[in-house]
Amino acid sequence: MTMDLLEKTAVEQHKALINKEISAVELTKSSIERIEKLDKTLGAFNSLCVDDAIKTAKLVDEKIARKEEIPMLAGIPTALKDNMNYKGYKTTCSSKILENFVSPYDATITAKLKENLVPIIGKTNLDEFAMGSSNENSAFNIVRNPYNTNKVPGGSSGGSAASVSASEVTLSLGSDTGGSIRLPASFCGIVGFKPTYGRVSRYGLVAFASSLDQIGPFAKSIEDTAYLYEAIAGHDVKDSTSLNLETGNIASTLSCDVKGLKVGYIKELMGEGIADDVKKSIENAIKTYEKMGAAIKEISLPLITHSIGVYYIVATAEASSNLARFDGVRYGYRAQNCENLLDMYCKTRAEGFGPEVKRRIMLGTYALSSGYYDAYYKKAQQIRRLIAQDFDKAFREVDILVSPTCPTTAFDLNSKANNPLEMYLTDIATISSNLMGGPALSMPCGFDSDNMPIGIQIIADKLNEKVLLNSAYALEQELGIYNQRPKI
Ligand code: GLN
Repeated sequence: MTMDLLEKTAVEQHKALINKEISAVELTKSSIERIEKLDKTLGAFNSLCVDDAIKTAKLVDEKIARKEEIPMLAGIPTALKDNMNYKGYKTTCSSKILENFVSPYDATITAKLKENLVPIIGKTNLDEFAMGSSNENSAFNIVRNPYNTNKVPGGSSGGSAASVSASEVTLSLGSDTGGSIRLPASFCGIVGFKPTYGRVSRYGLVAFASSLDQIGPFAKSIEDTAYLYEAIAGHDVKDSTSLNLETGNIASTLSCDVKGLKVGYIKELMGEGIADDVKKSIENAIKTYEKMGAAIKEISLPLITHSIGVYYIVATAEASSNLARFDGVRYGYRAQNCENLLDMYCKTRAEGFGPEVKRRIMLGTYALSSGYYDAYYKKAQQIRRLIAQDFDKAFREVDILVSPTCPTTAFDLNSKANNPLEMYLTDIATISSNLMGGPALSMPCGFDSDNMPIGIQIIADKLNEKVLLNSAYALEQELGIYNQRPKI
């Protein structure tokens, strides 16, 4: 019974809690038991926060016993990507340099989850400092895909995606700089949502590329996604890029009515290089929209093919600056037996950072150095603007854009780990939403011939979360595949 309930959505679990079919403490404990059972194989968690999770669950049970109303997500087992601060617990970013770093404060999203009485079960594994697409760059452990443990879960939020897919927890948060929520959601057969830049506070998220980073939900349904988004979104004075705008009621007003919705499919992401099964599945989703009364149109975004080049200049430049703070003095790891201060800086960073992080710091430092700045960084920023203008133009013609989230389904472990360029190409469909700043999500839309999940990406214009989530909800209900779970 408990195990079955763990596989359900947060909304279903909420009903079970208020109908007293199960207590919040039982639900939390069963999540922890399932992690203990499965995570030796999956590797989704870096650490657990058991005592506080159970304390929070007890508070929920007390409220229910007093017949008080509880928030929708109260008592629902939830995980945080291990680059978000939770006071008193480690925030490692899956890096040796922060291996023993304990958060001195709560990220704003953590504080908001606490206000909602959400038990935070643990911190999930990621590619070191969120740099990667397969979760193989973690300094600690690889994460495995719950649908096939010889395959990657996608990255960089691989642990957050795998933990929800395998029903170790019901909800989780990830961060998305170039696709790190959407790609693993697609590979693990769940929903992953990157809101508009500035909708969710980044205070307490360890910065990778500050102009691109955004926190967002993982869930099994669009409705759960909308509830978690509403719980974490909103203005925050502690983040100067946070938007001072109402989030609005989305979750409680979702409807299947998409009559007259204008759906564009991105021409450049439906041609060469897209796996056959993926393409067929996206075409089926487009036909489904048409059947429901939406108008379909082909949209060309000619510069989208440059998005990877632009991203790897902008993101690495910002990363090289953000990661300068890890110097052995202020945080975490410090190398021993150093001759002087400079030696200590160099040894600490040489020993503390993994190869991908070093590659990014070198690329970014190069792109920003005088003499190369104009040729690389400035040019990349100019093309970034042109890509955003292409989207502006597209959204004058359509309400949403659709594409595959990734050209392929999850690939085998170790198959791309030694080829960074090939790994970077997995983000071709996701990166441009970060460059333009608008909301985008990935949701399941089918399975390939090996029974691996396929994700469809839906993109909307900046601030149009409501249109995006509603369109996704309509498709989800019509496709009817959101009840599929991996057999693990
Ligand atoms: N895969 C991309 C990268 O390696 C995106 C990462 C992310 O979104 N955090 O940078």
